[in-house]
Parts: sequence; structure tokens; C-alpha cells
Amino acid sequence: MTTQPTAAEPFTTIIGLEVHVQLQTKTKLFCGCSTTFGAAPNTQVCPTCLGLPGSLPVMNRHAFDLAVRAALALDCTIAPFTKWDRKNYFYPDLPKGYQISQYDLPFSSDGRLEVIDPKGALWRDVRIIRVHLEEDAGKSMHDEAAGTADTRIDLNRAGTPLCEIVTQPDLRSPQESRAWLNELKLLLAYLGVSDCNMQEGSLRVDANVNLHIPLAGEGGADGRLAKTPIVEIKNMNSFRSVERALVYEAARQWEEWQATKAEMGNTPKQTRGWDDAAGVTRAQRHKEESSDYRYFPEPDLVPVTVSEADIAKARAAMGDPPTVLRKALAEKWRIPAYDADVLVNQGRDLVDYFEDLATRVGEGKVASNWMQQDVLRTLNERGGTIGEFPVRPEAVADIIGRVTKGDFDTSRGREIFAEVLASGRPVADVVASMGIAAVSDDDLVSLCKELLAANPKIVADVQGGKEQAAAGLIGQARKKNPNVNPGKFRQMCLDLIRGM
Ligand SMILES: [Zn+2]
Repeated sequence: MTTQPTAAEPFTTIIGLEVHVQLQTKTKLFCGCSTTFGAAPNTQVCPTCLGLPGSLPVMNRHAFDLAVRAALALDCTIAPFTKWDRKNYFYPDLPKGYQISQYDLPFSSDGRLEVIDPKGALWRDVRIIRVHLEEDAGKSMHDEAAGTADTRIDLNRAGTPLCEIVTQPDLRSPQESRAWLNELKLLLAYLGVSDCNMQEGSLRVDANVNLHIPLAGEGGADGRLAKTPIVEIKNMNSFRSVERALVYEAARQWEEWQATKAEMGNTPKQTRGWDDAAGVTRAQRHKEESSDYRYFPEPDLVPVTVSEADIAKARAAMGDPPTVLRKALAEKWRIPAYDADVLVNQGRDLVDYFEDLATRVGEGKVASNWMQQDVLRTLNERGGTIGEFPVRPEAVADIIGRVTKGDFDTSRGREIFAEVLASGRPVADVVASMGIAAVSDDDLVSLCKELLAANPKIVADVQGGKEQAAAGLIGQARKKNPNVNPGKFRQMCLDLIRGM
């Protein structure tokens, strides 16, 4: 997994990601408090998540099962025996003075998740070191009350179940890092493990990045590498920020290295915070080493055992992950890989909508074209989910059916689609009210004969091999009757001319 530096970039960017994902559970990891987002501060707390003396944690098995499902989908090995540890540190939003996490025996390890580039080829196969479970801390709110420098603490989030996913430093560019995060988010949404909403803090990403710079010895490259110190970037609040921060940080490290050209060895890891408005990273306090956390086994919780039956159950609940679904959809409906990719990337509900439509239409590619050109485009403009989209698959299938029958052409079909969307009325009503009556074959033939008689030059041109001359007849036909289906009319004219 090595990438040679390109001429444009005389270094290789080495990137690893640490992702925290909030699991989609109703209650917290070690108590029964609600995890619903947006409640008034400190209304979803109890003695356990407040860390009051005498309270005891009890593990939420559903959270554990969801985490196992995620780890299995990430190709991880599930440990048959796993335990909890206390990670000790002092921070105002951590009332217990420690966080319950997993240290030396995480519940899963050694996974992988591929990312595909925009052309559909494998971009990177990213190894995952481990996935473990832990509880979230509370939230400090700084300077929110105008005119004061108060910091207030909201502990509603304390104890919320988080999965921490740590990758090997296998990513090689900011662009593929962002694409990988999108793939991870999509996978977790398909699994029903997390909604991955970054605005609500359901997904947080830290990135580790440094540069490998080949050193040129006498007579050319001699295989030695200079490595810039690893920087951990924090405070990125969107995948776009992750990409921007990595682009900035790689350039910053390159500039810094050029000033010294040192063969930097084991320089300690640095932490920098991303300032989205300024578009820069800034130095922060150094991160604690794990020894500073004085990890020790959590005495109030029993270790967890995971049986083969538990794993089989989690696998059964998984469903097809996006990578499998893309291939399956392309094969089943005979649609290009690109189409399958577009559909799958929109989520499971949209795939269900498409399959419903394709089943009714009986033709995958036609259904896929309507999905992309009409349903998806409109959905993106309007916002909202496919579940709320007012034009249901049966209506789209109705319109497609009428186009296939030759009642009207695709562009007229689009107008009808737009009108069904705007008015919420059934397709048949809209067709009737728009005055789109299908022109009967007899009427079409007589119109055709009339125009051929009136246009001997066009007839002669077509007979001389210039089929495109027939286009001149379509405009005239639609002037006489706007409901004429151009494709059908053109074909009929050509057939009549050939029969002359
Ligand atoms: Zn609680």
C-alpha cells in the first residue's frame, strides 16, 4: 500500500482517522436515561450518569449488539470475551472523573472498509485497527449567555453509547479521506447503527496526518524518507471540513519541512484545532499519552462474552451493506454500475422506491433514468426524504407506461410528472386536465398523409436517403395537434414514405 509521490506533490500524505459514532439507541449505555437530542439541559440524567456515589452501571445490551453489527460489517473479528476499563481524566463535563471505555480488550479488531473513486475503481482498502465501545462525556457550553464568560455544563449526553472506529494510516489524500467517511456513514445508516448526524454530534472525526518525503541522495533517490511529525487535527464539524483541514495541514507541514529539510525522527505527536472560518489549523495543548489516563478495569461491570450465536444473530440483522447492494442492484436490474452507485448512495429507502418502480415498469434502465432525471433531481431541490416524496412509484410507473404506449413523449411525461408533484392529483386527472388526449392511430395516419402530400420536397429528400428531413414534418404536425407524439409520428411518416 505505497503510493509514489506525484510530480505535483513531492511527498506522500499519510492519513489515519479516528471516528466516534453515536449508536442509535433510545437509552444510554449504562443507565435508562433517554438519548433524544435537543432536550433542555440536564433533564436526561440520573444518579448513574451523574456519577453519584452508590449508583451502579448496567450495560445496555442493545447498544452492544448494534456495535457488534457495525464491527461485523467492517469485517472485524469479534472478541469472544471483552471487558470495560476506566479512562481517568479531569474535565468539568465528566462528573465521574472517568469515562467507561475499552482499553486492552476491545470487543472487535482487524477490520477493513474499501473506498471507491469517482470512476468506480478501488481507491483505497483501509484497514481498521479496532472498534470499541465507550460512553460519551457531557457538553461544555462556552460564552453562550451574551455578556458573560460563563461556561455551563449539559450532562444530557453523558453516558450516550459511542463506537470508536480507528483506522490504520492507510489513506493517502484528503479527497479519498472524505470519500471514505461518506462510505462509512452510508454503511452505518444502512445497518441502522447510527444516523451519523454531525450537526447533532452523532459523528465526530479526528484525523492524524503527516508527510513522507523521499530524500534524494548522491545521484538520485536513495530510498530514505523524511517524516514530518504526526499531527492530530480536531474540531472538524463536517466531512468537507475534514477535507479542507487535511489539504491545509499537508501544505503547512510541507512548508515547515522545507524550511529545515530535517530528517525528523521520533518527534512527539502534536494536536492542532481546525478553525473553519479562518481555514487554518492552530496548535493546541499536547494530547495525553494513554499512560496519563491511568486505565484500569471497571470493577462495577462484568466482562461481556459474545457467543457464535450472538454473532450469527448480528449478521442476520445486518442486511446487505452498500458494497454488496451496488453489485446486486446492477445485476438484477441490468443497470450500469454508475446508476447503481447513485441510487445506493442515497440510502436504503431510495433503493426500495427504485425497486418498487422498476418492478412495476418491468425495465430497470428506464426506471433508473426516471429516478435520476426526475425523482432525485426534484427531491434534491425540494429537500426532505424519499418517504415523504409526494409522487409515489405507482404514479411514476403510470406515466412511464403511457410514454411506452406512445400516448405522449418523454418530455410531455416530465411535464405531467411536475404537475402531479405540484397538484398532488392522480396521473389520469392531470393528463385529462392538461388536454393531453392520446391521438388515435387513424388520426395520426391521416395527418401524416396530409402533410406528405403538402411537402413533396421532404418526401423526395427522405427517399434520397436524407431521413433527417422528416424532422420538418414533426413541427408542422404539432402545430396542427400538440398531442402528437413526435417519435411515433416520425416513424409513421418514414414507414409511409418507404411504402410509396
Ligand atoms: Zn442516566
